[in-house]
Amino acid sequence: MEVRTRFAPSPTGFMHLGGVRTALYNYLFAKKMGGKFILRIEDTDQERYVEGATEVIYDTLRRCGMNWDEGPDVGGDYGPYIQSERKSFYLPYAKQLIASGHAYYCFCTEDELEKRRKAAQEKDEVFKYDKHCLHLSKEEIDRRLAEGQSYVIRMNCPVDGESTYHDLVYGDMTFPNETLDDMILIKADGMPTYNFANVIDDHLMGITHVMRGAEYLSSTPKYNLLYDAFGWQRPEYVHLPTVMRDAKHKLSKRDGDAYYSDFIDKGYLTEALINYLALIGWNPGDDREFFTMDELVDAFDVSRLNKAPGIFDVDKLTWFNAEYIRRMDFDRYLQLVTPWFDRVLGGKGIDYHRLAELMKDRTEIFSRVPDMVAFLAELPDYDLELYTHKKMKSNPEVAKNALALCLPVLEAIPEADWKETSIHDRIMEAISGAGLKNGAVLWPLRIALSGLASTPGGAMEIAYLLGKEETLRRIHIGQEKLSRA
Ligand code: GLU
Repeated sequence: MEVRTRFAPSPTGFMHLGGVRTALYNYLFAKKMGGKFILRIEDTDQERYVEGATEVIYDTLRRCGMNWDEGPDVGGDYGPYIQSERKSFYLPYAKQLIASGHAYYCFCTEDELEKRRKAAQEKDEVFKYDKHCLHLSKEEIDRRLAEGQSYVIRMNCPVDGESTYHDLVYGDMTFPNETLDDMILIKADGMPTYNFANVIDDHLMGITHVMRGAEYLSSTPKYNLLYDAFGWQRPEYVHLPTVMRDAKHKLSKRDGDAYYSDFIDKGYLTEALINYLALIGWNPGDDREFFTMDELVDAFDVSRLNKAPGIFDVDKLTWFNAEYIRRMDFDRYLQLVTPWFDRVLGGKGIDYHRLAELMKDRTEIFSRVPDMVAFLAELPDYDLELYTHKKMKSNPEVAKNALALCLPVLEAIPEADWKETSIHDRIMEAISGAGLKNGAVLWPLRIALSGLASTPGGAMEIAYLLGKEETLRRIHIGQEKLSRA
């Protein structure tokens, strides 16, 4: 039998990282088994409809490399793949359940339900629909329907006994039937609820494995009752533990750590994010950590999914990201880093190619780049203390001499010859001519040029990047500061 999995997001406008991981496991499993990965848009909740939200889903999945075999825009034999376009499919199935006694019309109004909910609350009971309308006579139902009264269709759940199913991650799951409520299948607006539509669609689309968040574990018995009522085969279930920020907290919108786009905006790479997400809740059974999408497909195994909630550790992701950047082609790095350089260095005429060479191994996430290179645009106001460095044998006195030594040497370099090699050769020549230690000159020179204790590149590289005029200007500033000390 061909494996068919599906990712069934609701278009909310954003892709939650938990959702990306759910899509990923569905994709990996389908590909691993030589099966099909299907995308279905679950948009029956019209109140939550967000303009442009389906594009966010398509775009994210495509950027992540999870191409769907069937779905909206690519088509397939089981369409349409957008639930609102399937609206007319559901009511006949609900009527079939009414005929077989597995569902019933309910005319209770919101007000009535609210009263009963409150009464239950006062008695400290969990409110469950009380099957009030299950007992209406056929005549009464027909009369109310003929009058055009508003109704929903509810499922008629058993109240005794228990329901059991097997989950490939959580094992055997058993729930007492008295905990199941007579959920709504068709809403007053004629639309199916998620609870009903997911079953009908999964069946009609031939889904063999339903992989979704663990929050659906306790509703699954109700879905199984629907499969049984129709005489359909139940799918295999693979529930996935929640992705958490820490032991107690979920990833949240407020903390800016919930959505795929949050991380892309911060300058994380999609491939690093996917690699890391795959490992939250799954492990390859050995100590490999780096995977391309194809390698993930190859290594994926449902039996290695964890039951425990996965902790999303941003520091670990950052480490992955830095590794991906270190391993990346230089040209791609240059292309990706350029807009981040532009934020602070745009129009300054700085040699981005050289700067990128100095930055590549130091870049953990792109959003940190502007702060790291901003000193090239503007000399930070630094503390004289920086000139003191024990190991470099530098202090303000030493620094004064060092800058006095370098200034004429640099002044003498013609503008056209302002290259790293000539700067390097002449400074080194001056240092050895004066019989000084390298550090005692290069440390203060770098401080004067950058105002920072740590920089990409050393004094000569920075001098080159700044250009002659700015280099000399910064040395003058350093000399002035030192003379005031
Ligand atoms: N539309 C549901 C959601 O976004 C899908 C759950 C499922 O995979 O069945 O949570």
